Amino acid sequence: MHPDDLTFDQRHIWHPYTSMTEPLPVYPVVAAAGCELELADGRRLVDGMSSWWAAIHGYNHPSINQAVGAQLGRMSHVMFGGVTHPQAVALCRRLVAMTPAPLECVFLADSGSVAVEVAIKMALQYWQARGERRKRLLTLRQGYHGDTFGAMAVCDPHTSMHRLYQGYLPEHDFVAAPQCRFGEAWREEDTDELAARLARGGERPAAVILEPIVQGAGGMRFYHPTYLRRVRELCDRHDTLLIADEIATGFGRTGRLFACEHADIAPDIMCLGKALTGGYLTLSATLTTRAVADTISDGEAGCFMHGPTFMANPLACAAANASLALLERGEWPEQVAAIERQLRAGLLPLRAHPQVIDARVLGAIGVIETRSPVNMAALQRFFVERGVWIRPFGRLIYLMPPYIIQPDQLSMLISALAASLDEPAHFTA
Ligand code: PLP
Repeated sequence: MHPDDLTFDQRHIWHPYTSMTEPLPVYPVVAAAGCELELADGRRLVDGMSSWWAAIHGYNHPSINQAVGAQLGRMSHVMFGGVTHPQAVALCRRLVAMTPAPLECVFLADSGSVAVEVAIKMALQYWQARGERRKRLLTLRQGYHGDTFGAMAVCDPHTSMHRLYQGYLPEHDFVAAPQCRFGEAWREEDTDELAARLARGGERPAAVILEPIVQGAGGMRFYHPTYLRRVRELCDRHDTLLIADEIATGFGRTGRLFACEHADIAPDIMCLGKALTGGYLTLSATLTTRAVADTISDGEAGCFMHGPTFMANPLACAAANASLALLERGEWPEQVAAIERQLRAGLLPLRAHPQVIDARVLGAIGVIETRSPVNMAALQRFFVERGVWIRPFGRLIYLMPPYIIQPDQLSMLISALAASLDEPAHFTA
């Protein structure tokens, strides 16, 4: 990369949640392979982020490369209206086979946020078709479901962007986030508020939408599987749909293929994205049951009203098929379990550090919650100088590496994280 490229970038290109007038530094990545990112100056960084949950098999994977290359030679895209193609059929067969049994109708779309929009629209059309007025959703505080309007409206109302867009966003109902943590004792009262909301008279919610087991960007919280089991029971009792947003948790990250499996439940609608293509290309899937799909199709519109231009993009489907084939080889449970063991051994003792409020690990996710918010630019620089890529936010420094990470690489991530806590300049007062 030319040095001018960085100047141009800072002047003209938006980055996620970043100011154009005071942009944070960005690091030029020119290549990536295995578990390493290569910077323009030749430095290599061990990746602790999997590009935000996505690159589960690492970068530049030979079999995903091969699959996408072969598909490129045949057809990079074709419309999905009135057309189908082998990659889409193979992918949907796989998704139907690997997700909980009642989910059997698949809608492919562009990104995680769009999968959530699709799920919400499915729930709304379902009730419309049943002749009931249900427009509101019920969800958990500290949730995160994406940045488009429908998805934003069910993100935590305080930590997210509700205030900025007040008046534009549909209003939904929120209950407190689950308090019982994964691996700790269950207390029945944890679902009291949710139960009371569902039992209340008046307009009933079209669906409960939540992230199963792990509340990700809203706080990296791991909650008790019984909570999820109770939510399923309550939704059944009160005839409400359950939408599980598995966009972050899906495909093994929590130690189970889908986080819903920790509670042994099936949602009525499930959203998948991120790791679906092994982090190669943007693609999402929203799966639902035959009953929901049939009800929508028998409704006023006679169909589900959504149809993106790049629906079922063949290149993305080819990447997804290759990524899921790697999961089907069956190595991921041991890879994730090994990461979990090493994260536990390395991160849990940091609870004793004065800068640390909490340390928690689930599957291939390790989280350090700090006393003070991080100084992003300073901490990021420190990590890059230590040869690792870790992107903290707020009071959270967390690791979720590709499943193929080697123990020595994970040690580098853990020791850099531990060392970062000792420097006061890495935190704001
Ligand atoms: N849902 C969850 C649980 C997520 O973690 C995210 C992204 O972080 C999304 C939805 C949105 O996905 P995307 O960024 O692909 O739109």
